[in-house]
Amino acid sequence: MFQLALRRRGISDQAVLRTMEEVPREVFVEAHDRAYAYRDSALPIACGQTISQPFVVAYMTEQLQLQKGHRVLEIGTGSGYQAAILSRLCKQVLTIERYRTLADSAGKRLEKLGYFNVEVLLGDGYDVPAGAGDFDRIIVTAAMEQIPDKLTQRLEPGGVLIAPVGPHQGAQTLVRVVRTESGFERKNLVDVRFVPALPGIAREL
Ligand code: SAH
Repeated sequence: MFQLALRRRGISDQAVLRTMEEVPREVFVEAHDRAYAYRDSALPIACGQTISQPFVVAYMTEQLQLQKGHRVLEIGTGSGYQAAILSRLCKQVLTIERYRTLADSAGKRLEKLGYFNVEVLLGDGYDVPAGAGDFDRIIVTAAMEQIPDKLTQRLEPGGVLIAPVGPHQGAQTLVRVVRTESGFERKNLVDVRFVPALPGIAREL
């Protein structure tokens, strides 16, 4: 049913569809929301954040055109669901979250499920540690008012970044940036709604 609904909405990449079917979304939502885990809607998680809608997760993953050997950076771990999906389709995922509560619980959840190629880091996605290196793919799952140059600079040649861009309280557009030999190519994809990307590690838990 889940796969069928995603297919109907235009997701066609077989590997993405299979992965969406394999990763148990019910483990990533709040216990009282389990019954809604396979509906195509975003759901609330701790710290006032949300787990994205399955269609948006599948769409962004498809747009990344992942390959088995890729190293991927995610900004906005949240529940860890998107990171789990990514981990099945690439070599390594580094995911950064500014809330300790979310980073800790996502890390435990991913480990329990056996997704060992994901590393969860408590930190600020606007300030990715230099030691983390560069990435084949970057996915931002919180809305940025602008994509910082500092972030696109972390793409390997041929690398792709996907991020929701727009005002925190208004219409946002999913933007795809490709690093080419001569610079960066930018394309607007679809309208979306994400929680804001805020600077710094959260002071509350
Ligand atoms: N990808 C998540 C959903 C993310 S919701 C999932 O699959 O469940 C967006 C997340 O981005 C929130 O948890 C929020 O705390 C986090 N976030 C916002 N700004 C951030 C920043 N600057 N650095 C890291 N994480 C950030």
